[in-house]
Amino acid sequence: MGLLYLGTPLTWEEAKNHADHVRDHGITQFLHTWDRVKDRTGDELLWGDEVEYMVVIFDDEKKDAKLSLRQTEILEELGRAVGTLHNDASLSTSVPKFHPEYGRYMLESTPGSPYTGSIADLLSVEANMRYRRTLARNRLKENEIPLTLTSFPRLGTAGVFTEPHYDSKDAKSSHSLFLPEEITNPHARFPTLTANIRSRRKSKVAINLPIFEDERTPRPFVDPTIPWQRDIYPEDPEAKNGAALIDHIYMDAMGFGMGCCCLQLTFQCCNVNEARRMYDALIPIGPLMLALTAASPIWRGYLADVDCRWNVIAGSVDDRTPEERGLEPLKNNRYIIPKSRYDSVDLYISSEWANKPAYNDTVVPYDEAIRNRLLSYGIDDLLSKHIAHLFIRDPLVIFSETIHQDDSSSSDHFENIQSTNWQTLRFKPPPPGSSIGWRVEFRSMEVQMTDFENAAFAVFIVLLSRAILAFNLNFYVPISKVDENMQRAQKRDAARTQKFFFRKNVIPQGYATPAASSPSSGSSTPSECSDCGMAPQVKERKLRNCFPTLARPPTIDDGLVEDEYEEMSIKEIFCGKGSAFPGLLGLVDAYLGTLEATPDERKQIDKYLDLVRGRANGTLQTPAAWMRSFVRSHPAYKFDSTVSQEINYDLLIAVDRIERGTLRVPELLPEDYGQPHLNGFH
Ligand code: ADP
Ligand code: MG
Ligand code: MG
Ligand code: MG
Repeated sequence: MGLLYLGTPLTWEEAKNHADHVRDHGITQFLHTWDRVKDRTGDELLWGDEVEYMVVIFDDEKKDAKLSLRQTEILEELGRAVGTLHNDASLSTSVPKFHPEYGRYMLESTPGSPYTGSIADLLSVEANMRYRRTLARNRLKENEIPLTLTSFPRLGTAGVFTEPHYDSKDAKSSHSLFLPEEITNPHARFPTLTANIRSRRKSKVAINLPIFEDERTPRPFVDPTIPWQRDIYPEDPEAKNGAALIDHIYMDAMGFGMGCCCLQLTFQCCNVNEARRMYDALIPIGPLMLALTAASPIWRGYLADVDCRWNVIAGSVDDRTPEERGLEPLKNNRYIIPKSRYDSVDLYISSEWANKPAYNDTVVPYDEAIRNRLLSYGIDDLLSKHIAHLFIRDPLVIFSETIHQDDSSSSDHFENIQSTNWQTLRFKPPPPGSSIGWRVEFRSMEVQMTDFENAAFAVFIVLLSRAILAFNLNFYVPISKVDENMQRAQKRDAARTQKFFFRKNVIPQGYATPAASSPSSGSSTPSECSDCGMAPQVKERKLRNCFPTLARPPTIDDGLVEDEYEEMSIKEIFCGKGSAFPGLLGLVDAYLGTLEATPDERKQIDKYLDLVRGRANGTLQTPAAWMRSFVRSHPAYKFDSTVSQEINYDLLIAVDRIERGTLRVPELLPEDYGQPHLNGFH
């Protein structure tokens, strides 16, 4: 999320007149950055996570769990607490950071300083996350709890779901039938984003998730909780006239999507080329990790037939006009745009030979003038196209005070567009005036209920990112297949039931499959091909950057792209298929063989990888699968897809107990998960 300015936000009618100004100066700012850092190299691996929380307030007497809208006070309180910690010289960890988020019940936390590549830092992630949660927990009221829930099951129900309660009649930014104005962070940026998306789109956003058809779900399902007769805003007839679909859960506001929580990871790369390589390699991984971390099966009080948040957020910020959505002929707009600003990545950007033009196989509109400007500045075709594609979007929030900037020292206009392109990966140029290098952010995962799981997925992805570099792995499949995988990933129980397009051979031509390491012997080499330069021969104590790239082979076996991939189960992709493909976990294991880890360290790492393996081979449930079965086996559930106040309360109590370790659920988490809770932090 960009910086929060205090200032006067422009309405959409005003802001649109400045769109070209922002784009123009945004590109100038990018070019300044480019001049400054295009040749920067040698940056070490630094990385960090972002964990988002919902503050839930429990009423044990009434058996009710609601969202607590005390974000502002809580953040002030946390700010004071963090300030005190800064003065505490005896503290061993750096002081965490807490950030506001879209929902007025949300918090985000990040480590105080990024992790380095040391194994000690790798193994500190869980404790770091736990420390942050404890800090937040200690600053809340006794009956408030920071839960890492991806979606709040009863957000937008007809009943009372926030504390305090507000009526949605006055939802002046979103015009929602379900969410009050007060659901949104009051900082001007957020209501303005909400209102300007709606104004630009020329209607409310409309999200329809298929309802989960249980034994007694009415068919057809016509949602009795939609206030069909409410005509406060001119758009309201829309709900009646087709925006709300039969057999679906209808949602009509940004808050339904941007009010979700997720888990994000950011990696600093050696240089711009390594960042581009990393970005590309992680693109096909995005949907797979979405499926493995699926954690949001309940929306507006109903069980949905999907398990993930992704399409809800995509729909919740979809500011495309009817012309841009291809519903009307282009007259006032410039492009037909296939996707929302929040969606999976559209373009691979690595300039390496392994990135064949055929992989970028979807329609990707771009701003021709911007592309030409970047090209004539000497930036290569793919990166120019990437930026020119991001820049087809309009800036949504402009503050009158910051329209004029010093383009050589600011990147605000660039970031205005960049950071409202919410894709599965984000390619982040170094910000001016800081020591930070080129970074890649991995953004598809749903937040998990426990810090053990959040740490496990963070550890897995950072290890996979190193395996990618160490073994020069090639994960390319056409972008259209990644898009298809994104849709499959969200289906109910996708990790167990769906197949995903994946590359058959991820090892570069002419190289051997890296051999699995053995934790006990600790002496295996990462590759049978010890002189190929693919992997370091001396074991290292650190996860690092700056791996050599592969030279283009004299002849490339250029078969059909269609022959390079096939449909595989998640189990095959992660655990291996046949003798040629050791699976992503096998590759991570081989990479671990290049590290010098003590048996204890290795054991801890393996605990995390075992969680990923359990999810992938189906022996462990995703949080979504567990939540669905919790609801369906609740004595008060009527098999009609409805998640009542009482079921919601019991579910969230169970979530909290699982997080605290007082409720053990073997189908969800291994018996011995987690480190003991940290005491002594205040
Ligand atoms: P945003 O919300 O814009 O994605 P945040 O500031 O919330 O960004 O989170 C950025 C993450 O990147 C944090 O986990 C932080 O620790 C981490 N980080 C900070 N500096 C670096 C760096 N130089 N390289 C990699 N990661 C970094
Ligand atoms: Mg953040
Ligand atoms: Mg965030
Ligand atoms: Mg982020």
